[in-house]
Amino acid sequence: MPLVPMRLVLDHAAANNYGVAALNVNNMEQIQAIMEAARETDSPVIIQASRGARSYAQENYLRHLMLAAAELYPELPVVMHQDHGNSPSTCYSAIRNGFTSVMMDGSLLEDAKTPAPYEYNVKVSREVVQVAHALNVSVEGEVGCLGTVGQTKSDAPKVASTEPHDADLEQEPEPEMAHLTDPDEAERFVAETKVDALAVAIGTSHGAYKFTAQPTGEVLKMSLIEEIHRRLPNTHLVMHGSSSVPQELQDIINKNGGKIHQTWGVPVEEIQRGIKHGVRKINVDTDNRLAMTAAIREVFMKSPEKFDPRDYLKPAREAMKKICIARMVSFGQAGNASKMRAAKLF
Ligand SMILES: [Zn+2]
Repeated sequence: MPLVPMRLVLDHAAANNYGVAALNVNNMEQIQAIMEAARETDSPVIIQASRGARSYAQENYLRHLMLAAAELYPELPVVMHQDHGNSPSTCYSAIRNGFTSVMMDGSLLEDAKTPAPYEYNVKVSREVVQVAHALNVSVEGEVGCLGTVGQTKSDAPKVASTEPHDADLEQEPEPEMAHLTDPDEAERFVAETKVDALAVAIGTSHGAYKFTAQPTGEVLKMSLIEEIHRRLPNTHLVMHGSSSVPQELQDIINKNGGKIHQTWGVPVEEIQRGIKHGVRKINVDTDNRLAMTAAIREVFMKSPEKFDPRDYLKPAREAMKKICIARMVSFGQAGNASKMRAAKLF
């Protein structure tokens, strides 16, 4: 049974000091790109779907795509994770649809934008843990609110806010509401809820427009990760919004008729520093989106006569696979699927 609970993969990652990329999907090509990258690098896999992805793909398509992945790659452990569940019922419907891990994001209320009181967060997270654990499903919680420090929403280019709202880019709290994770609260929260993994807010945000300059220790609080890990050595930490937003991809998009405003992501070296201090799951979505878009734009510009979707979806899939391979190698998960198999973990 290669669909496995996230706890299994993250426990192995913790015991062997590596991190695992959690990669978002909406469609078949993205799942294929991830699975091929994982096979090539012998990596355990975390695939995640947001509420937006579940509604875009529809539950049945998504479930069968995941089952196809598990069937075609029996040598790889695959986690299917609900990204940013906004309520217990979202988490339960994910579990009914075969997800082996859920995030109950009680840091925000059910509207997924209003910061929630701590007591609310504990209540919903604890409830989901009780149900999920009984079904061998893992749970990720979140303390603190994602956003950016040292950057206000008005710094982000207008194009970001005029994009049609995509439920994947979870509506974020206004910057003044965004707050970093308080280590005391994190410690209490884990004791009170028993979550398997904890997302921490350290200054990253979702989407492409994370930082208006190369991030420094002032805006990206890696030291906070170290502090939380010192207090919670047995909790798997999760970094959200951790795309690196490669300059090269921004350039390809812009050279081919795109309009991405100059932006900076989370440097891979900072993520590697996090992995040394308890970060086990790293959420990456934007980099894959950029890679696919760059490849598609290139085909459209260079070969305007083409109209078979495979002519641009194949290069798009290939480009996403390349990013996935790069992340799997730099996070250290490469080479670990066979070790998990040898240890009879799945
Ligand atoms: Zn997130």
